[in-house]
Amino acid sequence: MQIYLNNSLTKVKEEFKPIENNQVGLYTCGPTVYGYPHIGNFRAYLTWDILKRFLLSQNFAVNHIMNLTDVGHLVSDADNGEDKLEKAAKREGKNAWEIAEFFIQDFKDSLKELNILEPTHFVRATDTIKEQIEFVKILEAKGFLYKISDGLYFDTSKISDYGKIANIQNIDLQAGARVEINPEKKNITDFAVWKFSPLDAQRDMEWDSPWGKGFPGWHLECSVMSQMYLGDTFDIHTGGIDHLPIHHPNEMAQSFAATSKLQANYWLHNEFLKFAGGKMSKSAGTFVTIENLKEKNISPLSYRYFVLLTHYRKGLNFSWEALEAAQNALVNLVKTIVNFDDGGKADAVSLEKFYSSLADDLNTPQAVAVLQEVLASNLSDQEKLATIYKMDEVLGLDLKNLKKQILSLSAEEKDLLTQREQARNNKDWALSDALRVRLQSLGVEVEDTAGGQKAMRMKI
Ligand SMILES: [Zn+2]
Repeated sequence: MQIYLNNSLTKVKEEFKPIENNQVGLYTCGPTVYGYPHIGNFRAYLTWDILKRFLLSQNFAVNHIMNLTDVGHLVSDADNGEDKLEKAAKREGKNAWEIAEFFIQDFKDSLKELNILEPTHFVRATDTIKEQIEFVKILEAKGFLYKISDGLYFDTSKISDYGKIANIQNIDLQAGARVEINPEKKNITDFAVWKFSPLDAQRDMEWDSPWGKGFPGWHLECSVMSQMYLGDTFDIHTGGIDHLPIHHPNEMAQSFAATSKLQANYWLHNEFLKFAGGKMSKSAGTFVTIENLKEKNISPLSYRYFVLLTHYRKGLNFSWEALEAAQNALVNLVKTIVNFDDGGKADAVSLEKFYSSLADDLNTPQAVAVLQEVLASNLSDQEKLATIYKMDEVLGLDLKNLKKQILSLSAEEKDLLTQREQARNNKDWALSDALRVRLQSLGVEVEDTAGGQKAMRMKI
């Protein structure tokens, strides 16, 4: 199947051609592990999970690398301000290493709850310091760097030819208003590859280097890790749209300077999750975490379904109502298939249509529509179930488990059902109704069928 992806580098939808047949090198810029991410951050990881699952469904072997930024990401995203990890450590009375450990585990737990496949390799920035220093040495030897009082910087004016070669001007290297411009920098777009530790304070994370004690600049790790695990040039580089003006051009520039090659052939970016009134903020109640979803009885998988309903390059408007609607739709889907039996054959025509939707720049809303068409079709229940399970290998809604989940009842609930059966046998309709209400209050719905009572959970 021909796959088309919107390449931010060329700004057009292009046919995807991997460097090596049946193999894909995929790199995703990962989180800075200093706090709980908001659910908008997970829109990116969900999107790239769908991409990866789709590529797997098309029989590609996918080598997926994700970095974990545990040092060097400064508060301003540029090269000023405090290190996010060190700042969080001070706030919580811990050291930066403890902060990193805690939030890496939290991030991995969240991926699991969202049914996101783990990358082939998670790589911590602090585990590649030696390689990062070697990379900086290469940049220095090639004359791309200069030293100022707070660090070693990359001179972006030295890559004007690169702009032509890689179409990098499309990415708009000059954009991204840098706050707090450092007057010592030669060009406003220059960025640090090595920052010096402050003279008056000891950092939790710092290393010796040929240029002085310090720590790597944030952008460096992605150039280094992608080269280590995927080679000088790999297939697909993914990230949020926020990486488009600064982080990705900087990665590209460093990699090109070091290898004279384009870092990746396809660059994909997802749009943001949007909140009414603009920015997410804790005070306005619009900084929503996975934990907050669960507090409101919204399952992380319902959030996954919600994300699937909008194309990744469109802004997705957040509201609790919309999330609840997505959860209800997912519950209805599970309820529809709950009594379908295994053992059918997946319908090839529907699958072809489903994969074609995704091959068109990951059109997930259309793919979900194809799934709904299957439910409404004339296929047998068994065929429907087999087809939907196959689709779910890409959508990742974990329908097999959800089906089990809505049928699983506690001992108390089972006991109430037995009592209700007895009440019905005794034609005690008042008691039977009371028990139904009691079960409802526990979140269990009872239906009386010719075969007896059927009970399932109303929520997931
Ligand atoms: Zn990156």
